[in-house]
Amino acid sequence: MFDALIVDKDADGQVRAGVQRIAVDRLPAGNVTVAIECSTVNYKDGLCLGSGGGLVRTWPHVPGIDFAGTVEVSDDPRYAPGDRVVLTGWRVGEARWGGYAQKARVDADWLVPLPDGLTPRQAMAVGTAGLTAMLAVMALEDHGIKDGPVLVTGAAGGVGSVATALLAALGHPVAAVTGRPEAADYLMSLGATEVVARADLAETSRKPLEAERWGGCVDAVGGAMLARVLGQMRYGASVAAVGLAGGSDLPATVIPFLLRGVNLLGIDSVMQPFVARQKAWARIARDLPLDRLEAMIVPATLSDLPRLGADILAGRVRGRVVVDVN
Ligand code: NDP
Repeated sequence: MFDALIVDKDADGQVRAGVQRIAVDRLPAGNVTVAIECSTVNYKDGLCLGSGGGLVRTWPHVPGIDFAGTVEVSDDPRYAPGDRVVLTGWRVGEARWGGYAQKARVDADWLVPLPDGLTPRQAMAVGTAGLTAMLAVMALEDHGIKDGPVLVTGAAGGVGSVATALLAALGHPVAAVTGRPEAADYLMSLGATEVVARADLAETSRKPLEAERWGGCVDAVGGAMLARVLGQMRYGASVAAVGLAGGSDLPATVIPFLLRGVNLLGIDSVMQPFVARQKAWARIARDLPLDRLEAMIVPATLSDLPRLGADILAGRVRGRVVVDVN
């Protein structure tokens, strides 16, 4: 038997979430069983803790798109009992049972060995949000980060916090955009060199090009802010588009692409192949300062999750939640 946070839909369509003790034989099919140590809360988890927002396929459901722990049983030659592993993405926690439980059974293809130097707790402080931030920074590096501050939007959120700490540790000046003025000290402690008020970038400009300001951008917000930022990029600079916290539309013109050679780079963390994941996790273990990661952590347990799900959808979570499932 083990504890799991089960989300279920009752006959009148109401979604309820609660911790239940369930039998191991209720785990889905898979060739590796993992004893989970920690999970986390990403924006998508907020959706799956409620009605699912179209992501959840069957009920009852165990959400949790990320987990880290120790292999308990393995029918796959790549993993043996006692190996420490991390899982993010692959629609685990959405279309399949995920990490809000003390055990998970999954396909070995979805796992990554925990990189040396990271504990399961630290790996979950990173989670999908942090892995995505790393993938975004690597995409910017591949295309060349130009002079001038690198802009991070949605900076006090999960992706933004890790992107800010990573970019600062790599020696880039970081301009952190936030709608929460009270988060300014937190963002400076992560290494931001300036804080930009969300309101300054909230509306599209009437001019397709403004003064060149940013040497790169990790954008977790999308919408009007992304459109505005495109017109402020330095010549040849790139924006890594990661999220849609502010909207999925893009009310922009193509002028920044044509006259300034600006690049818009799409970042997906869910279906990344194994080798790319391993490379990103190795970079995280090497480049992310662990004291700054520690400063982002909000500790939680399984029973806190329904509240935290609502909080992340409302933009009230600062940094990264780490859920101790035991
Ligand atoms: P968080 O909720 O932790 O962070 C989002 C941040 O965006 C908030 O903290 C807030 O930052 C800012 N924000 C919220 N609402 C608005 C708004 N209306 N306008 C402008 N800014 C806003 O979420 P995550 O960091 O986990 O995820 C960020 C985005 O990235 C989400 O859209 C998520 O779906 C996406 N994502 C995509 C992935 C991929 O593979 N492409 C993987 C992971 C996440 P502040 O308070 O500082 O203003």
